[in-house]
Amino acid sequence: MKTIEIKKIVEAIETSDGAGVKLKRSIGTPEADYIDPFLMLDEFGSENKDDYIAGFPPHPHRGIETVTYMLKGEFEHEDSTGAKGRMTPGDVQWMKTGAGIIHSEMPAMSEGKLLGFQLWINMPAKLKRNKPQYLYIKGNELGTHKDADKVVKVIAGKFEKAEGPEKNHNVDPIYFHVVLEKNKEFKCNVPKDHNSFIYLLTGQVTVGDKKHKETHNSNLILLDKGDQLIVKANKKSEFLFIAGKPIGEPIARGGPFVMNTKAEILEAVQDYHNGTFAKY
Ligand code: FE
Repeated sequence: MKTIEIKKIVEAIETSDGAGVKLKRSIGTPEADYIDPFLMLDEFGSENKDDYIAGFPPHPHRGIETVTYMLKGEFEHEDSTGAKGRMTPGDVQWMKTGAGIIHSEMPAMSEGKLLGFQLWINMPAKLKRNKPQYLYIKGNELGTHKDADKVVKVIAGKFEKAEGPEKNHNVDPIYFHVVLEKNKEFKCNVPKDHNSFIYLLTGQVTVGDKKHKETHNSNLILLDKGDQLIVKANKKSEFLFIAGKPIGEPIARGGPFVMNTKAEILEAVQDYHNGTFAKY
């Protein structure tokens, strides 16, 4: 077994998106542009309503999957396929945009704390033109493993007996939300070709067997390939562990569209302007 070590520790960058929602971006930045198949990771969180109240008014997507995980606060979404829903703490929304979707994500709260994550997973060329698909998982239906040392919520993949809802996914994703008690260890097996990373929400962790730079809150910890992950909590810690099989295709980014070529991005922009974008 090859123990996974840290490749690089990257600070999340404060930015804003939508109609001015403040967030911390850790993937999709100059230092971590594309961790194939992951295109973006945003933490949106604030206690100040002015930081989130404007939300994400209607906007298009093509060629990606967005996985939204809410920890605090409530969001309302609506999209061009007619899907509608209200996300409450613990809920997961998994959207495969495929050929195109137009959606809005607006806070369903006028005050209080908001905390959530949005991960973008790239789609391979053969799936980018598919009909959009939508999966909604209530927090209490998420597979959860609990023991004296840790709680592991499984958004994707499998940990012990807890399993995520996405089966036979093309990148074989792993997405765990782990709360680890002080001086305890989290161990899991990872397919050896997967790219993986940890996003540390709170606390301080040691990864692997070698000595590494100290980690802290809002750190993106990019990991080397290997087949066993060992994380030790130096204090009580909370983190996301995310992994997936690389797609290995060229990418062209155009804001909310991610395709394989620049010409396909122009096509998406034209479709959107012509009103022929959302076919489903
Ligand atoms: Fe969106």
